[in-house]
Amino acid sequence: MMPWHLVILGRQGSGKGTQANRIVNELGTVHVSTGDMLRSAIQARTELGLAAKVVVDSGGLVGDETMCGIVDERLGLDDVIERGVLLDGFPRNLVQAQALVEILGTRRLDAAVNLDVPVDVVTARMLERGRHDDAPEAIAKRLELYESETQPLIEWFEDEGVLVTVDGVGSEEEVFGRIKDGLNAANATAYEVGSSTPQE
Ligand code: AMP
Repeated sequence: MMPWHLVILGRQGSGKGTQANRIVNELGTVHVSTGDMLRSAIQARTELGLAAKVVVDSGGLVGDETMCGIVDERLGLDDVIERGVLLDGFPRNLVQAQALVEILGTRRLDAAVNLDVPVDVVTARMLERGRHDDAPEAIAKRLELYESETQPLIEWFEDEGVLVTVDGVGSEEEVFGRIKDGLNAANATAYEVGSSTPQE
């Protein structure tokens, strides 16, 4: 079976992280979350972490060159080569999307899952979650950036023929069921997502 190369998109607070975990458990792909990578770097006070901290804390976007470099390096490691990848938090804009095509090289992007949850729903969820970079101003800025930078990506993925939009409002189980249906519909290979381990 060929490894999957997937992207998951969704506003902060859309349940993207939770669903990403379920997808990687199901498919055996490596979960690469650029937000998690940055948060670890900040905690470990690496050079990257020190440089990124102010931007991440304010809800801004770390520079494309830095991010593309991190992802290029990560996607070249053996686990990703063997098991494929679910990218979470990258690409965040068109520059990064075009870089991703280069980074993947001969590896095909199988699908971009767009977890669709309205702005008012995600804002309420994020305020409840109370993460340290979840100050109200940072939340507002991240949502604003999502509309301006990431929303155009949805069209781009659609043009590429890989967009799978999923209604992200509902129970974790319901949403995951929709993702599996969407991936099965998008998938040209013989593998049926969820055929080996039914979740119901
Ligand atoms: P996330 O967990 O994906 O919401 O990412 C947390 C923060 O990390 C974001 O608010 C950005 O500051 C930064 N970040 C994560 N991924 C990227 C990316 N692909 N490009 C730029 N900044 C990013």
